Amino acid sequence: MHFSDLGLSPKVLSAVTDAGYTQPTPIQAGAIPHALQGKDVLGIAQTGTGKTAAFVLPMITRLEKGRARARMPRTLILEPTRELAAQVEENFTRYGKNHKLNVALLIGGVSFDDQERKLERGADVLIATPGRLLDHFERGKLLLTGVDILVIDEADRMLDMGFIPDIERICKLIPFTRQTLFFSATMPPEITKLTEQFLHAPVRVEVARAASTASTVTQRLVKSGSKPWDKRETLRRLIREEEDGLKNAIIFCNRKVEVSELFRSLVKHDFNAGALHGDMDQRARMTMLANFRDGKLQLLVASDVAARGLDIPDVSHVFNYDVPIHSEDYVHRIGRTGRAGRSGKSFTIATKSDTKYIDAIEKLIGQKIEWHDGDLSTVPVSDSEDDAPRRGRGAPRRAGRKDEGGRGRGRTSDKRSHPKHSDEETESALPGNPAADAAPAESEERRSRKDAIRGENAARKAHDDNRPQRDHRGGRHRHAEDDDKTVGFGDDVPAFMKIVAKV
Ligand code: AMP
Repeated sequence: MHFSDLGLSPKVLSAVTDAGYTQPTPIQAGAIPHALQGKDVLGIAQTGTGKTAAFVLPMITRLEKGRARARMPRTLILEPTRELAAQVEENFTRYGKNHKLNVALLIGGVSFDDQERKLERGADVLIATPGRLLDHFERGKLLLTGVDILVIDEADRMLDMGFIPDIERICKLIPFTRQTLFFSATMPPEITKLTEQFLHAPVRVEVARAASTASTVTQRLVKSGSKPWDKRETLRRLIREEEDGLKNAIIFCNRKVEVSELFRSLVKHDFNAGALHGDMDQRARMTMLANFRDGKLQLLVASDVAARGLDIPDVSHVFNYDVPIHSEDYVHRIGRTGRAGRSGKSFTIATKSDTKYIDAIEKLIGQKIEWHDGDLSTVPVSDSEDDAPRRGRGAPRRAGRKDEGGRGRGRTSDKRSHPKHSDEETESALPGNPAADAAPAESEERRSRKDAIRGENAARKAHDDNRPQRDHRGGRHRHAEDDDKTVGFGDDVPAFMKIVAKV
């Protein structure tokens, strides 16, 4: 199959040739002909499969006819995060180089005025995060009645982030006669319901099971003690062991606060590292990403929300500093390497308290992951206890839309009623935060031990606080806010509690 068989316009084909693509990927081959015919498409595909071009190329072809009118965009693409929205915009620049398209990006963290000016000029393509789009709509600066093509991308991500009510509202604001192209890596029941409600006789194109990891990725588990300094030491050892084979790596943490701590620690140990988290302003995020893409940064410490779906083509390694609590996140993380047939490596640092999460991952991906240098049976038994409270195991997560810059709202149904990513948690000590950066230098080991002691005190207190609170199933119930909120003495910890234990 060639691109020229798909029905794309000559100008689009020329841009595709210039991009260096020789063959359409399966999602492109499956979706593009139907999209060009104006049919609704339900694409079940992960990032890395070429799904962005699967909707951008037919859109550009179809946009060759007609013109945009002020405040009435002709097409609308909804993305869950600012980064993904910016990436889609880049795709329009690349594939639309032979066209004069007005592309407007409506994302949080950027001034309303500039965005309004673009809308006023008339947008052929509007790429938006749901909250910012509705903000503009409510300000009366936007009419959605001229939208002919609606793209909903990363729908399962939208679900995780609590955007489904917004999506439903937006779908109702766009004419019924539109074409809808809908993409999701997985199809949980809420997403199926959404497609039943808003797609008309869609052509279903499914390219890979979301639960599968690429065979080009060598996956290993690496045993570690559970203390932060144990895990950091394990990570440093792994990075050093890989030597020249490690071109660049994304290091995933479960929580923003860990992203921050680990980033600082790596820099302190002279690694060339950056960090990506939801609280950074848009410019800082894009600069950080650009530096990583250009090879100016070798390591990128990130949380799931900040990193998911990013188009970073050539990552040699993925490190899971924390075992992901939700097994599908493992698949997404590992999917950052071994892309487009290249080989990649992933190392997952595992402690004793991670066993049940590892089991769930292995069940999901349908294979056992090999241990790098021996399993957890050689780690001392006493080591496993302290880790659990700091991780906030089983704690429901707070709803929010921070990644978009405000207006949080969580999922509302059954066991999925809380966004699963911890990225919404607050944090204070992140790169780019002047207050945090100005913090007096303190020995890392000492800080870690103090953290651990505070963590243990907080954990003990949390344990006591939580004991009487049982949910209706008899299980222990914790509030999401507990995860990072100070539960012990707060800033008034008595001096004797801060004495570093000699171990
Ligand atoms: P996506 O799944 O849209 O995030 O795309 C993943 C990567 O695949 C991007 O770096 C694209 O530039 C690249 N890509 C898209 N289509 C093709 C193709 N037909 N051949 C080779 N690479 C492609």
